Amino acid sequence: MKLIFERSVEGRGCSLLPECDVPVVMPSMERKSPLRLPQVSENDISRHYTQLANATHGVNDGAYPLGSCTMKYNPKVNDEAASLPGFTRVHPLQPEETVQGCLHVLHDAEKIFCEITGMDAMTFQPAAGAHGEFTGLLLIRAFHESRGDSRRTKIIVPDSAHGTNPASAVMAGYQVVNIPSTPEGCVDLEKLAEAAGEDTAGLMLTNPNTVGLFDKNILEITRIIHEAGGLCYYDGANLNAVMGVVRPGDMGFDVVHLNLHKTFSTPHGGGGPGSGPVGCKEFLKQFLPGREAAEGEQGLYLREYPGSIGMVRAFYGNFLVVVRALCYCLTLGPEGIVQAAHMAVLNANYVRVRLSEAYKMAYEETCMHEFVMTLQPEKETMGITAVDVAKALLDYGIHPPTMYFPLIVHEALMIEPTETESMENLDELAEAFLEIHRKAQEDPEWIRSAPHTTPITRLDEVGAARNPRLHYEFTR
Ligand SMILES: *Cc1c(COP(=O)(O)O)cnc(C)c1O
Repeated sequence: MKLIFERSVEGRGCSLLPECDVPVVMPSMERKSPLRLPQVSENDISRHYTQLANATHGVNDGAYPLGSCTMKYNPKVNDEAASLPGFTRVHPLQPEETVQGCLHVLHDAEKIFCEITGMDAMTFQPAAGAHGEFTGLLLIRAFHESRGDSRRTKIIVPDSAHGTNPASAVMAGYQVVNIPSTPEGCVDLEKLAEAAGEDTAGLMLTNPNTVGLFDKNILEITRIIHEAGGLCYYDGANLNAVMGVVRPGDMGFDVVHLNLHKTFSTPHGGGGPGSGPVGCKEFLKQFLPGREAAEGEQGLYLREYPGSIGMVRAFYGNFLVVVRALCYCLTLGPEGIVQAAHMAVLNANYVRVRLSEAYKMAYEETCMHEFVMTLQPEKETMGITAVDVAKALLDYGIHPPTMYFPLIVHEALMIEPTETESMENLDELAEAFLEIHRKAQEDPEWIRSAPHTTPITRLDEVGAARNPRLHYEFTR
C-alpha cells in the first residue's frame, strides 16, 4: 500500500476553505513556508483511509482476545446517544442552567458507578486507566498529608499487578515495594505482612490480577494494609469480571478506578478516547479533582471539593465516554450487568478448558475474565514461541492475544475472549489455536514464518526496534 505522500501530485487538492478574512494577530507566529501536506483529491483521501481501515483488525472483523484490554463488541446505540447534538454541541464554559442534561449524565453516572463499586463519590476527570491510578494515588497522598503523616513514602504493588501500577506510584512520588506471588498466583500474605509498616502509604491491587485470578485472600490483604495505617487502591480496569457480583468497597478498598473504555462500552485501541473515573470512600471525597455535579435548588450545579488536589484534566474529562457508559448501564440494567460479568467468566473458562487439551496453562485454577498460557514447553520441544502462535492467529482472521505479559510467566499468552462472543465464535477461536498447535508439530517452519496472508508478513522486530524509521523522507 502506498503512503499518502507517495500519492501526492503537485497542485492537486480538495480544500474548500475560503481565504482568511480576519486580521492576523501575531504575524511573527505565522508560518514562513507552506506546510508540506500531501496534495491529493478527495477521492484519493477517501480510498487511502478505506485501505488503511481494511488493513486493520477491529472487533467488527473478528475475534480480538487481547488479554486485559477487553476488546468486546460495544452496542451501537451507545454511540448514537453520545452523538446527540445536546451532548456534542455544548461548550464546557456554558452557564450551568443551559447544560442541565450534561450535568445529569455526570450526576447519574456517578451514582451508578458508586453503586457498582461500593464507593461514595467519583470523579470523571481522568482520561484513562493509568491516569486514574495516578489520580487515586494523589488522593492517598493528600489524605496522609492532611494528617501530617509524612513517613508514608511507599506503595506496595504485588508482581501480579498491571504494569501501569508501579509506574503510576513512581509518578505520584512514591517508592514501590514489590511483593511476589505464590505459585497459585495470589499475593504472598507473609511477604505482604513483612512489607507493611509505618512507611506504607498504601497498596495497589489489580483484581482480578494479571493472570486472571481473583485473589481469595482479598479481605486479609486489605486488613493487613489498614492495620499498618495504609490505604487500599483497587485497580478495577477489568471490572467486567466482577461487576454486579462483588464490590471493591465491600472488600475494604478506599479508592478504585474503572476503565470505561474497556468495561463500559467505548470502543478503544489506537489511542483513545478513554476514561478512567476514580471512586473513593467518603473520607477522601474532599480531595477529588475537578468539581462535582451537585443537587441545588435550581437543579444541578458544579460544586468545588474543599481540599481538592486540583485539576488532573481540563473540565470534565472525556465526557462523551461517560455518556456511552451511562447508556450502557441503563440499557443493561442491574440484571444485565451481572449477566455480562457471568458471561465474561464463563467464556474465558470455556476457551481455557478447550485449549488445555493442547496447551499448558500457567495456572490450573478456574479463571475470571481471562487466562494465561505458557508456550515454554513448545519452545523447548519444537522451537515454537508465544510470538509464533500469536502471528499464526493472524492467518485465521483473529487478533493475537496479549504476548509476553505478565512477566511472571515465561512465553506468556494472555487470552480474554470477552463476554460478547457467542459459543460458535468461541469454538472457532479455540479451533484456530488447536489447529496451530497441530501444524506446529507437522510443519513448524510454517508457524515460524507466519503470518502468510496479511498485507505485511513477519516483521524484523529487532530491526524495527533498533533502527526505527519514524518519519517520511521527502525525496524532493
Ligand atoms: C488497561 C489496564 C490499565 C491501564 O489502563 P489505560 O486506560 O490503558 O491507561 C490498568 N490496569 C489494568 C488492570 C488494565 O487492564
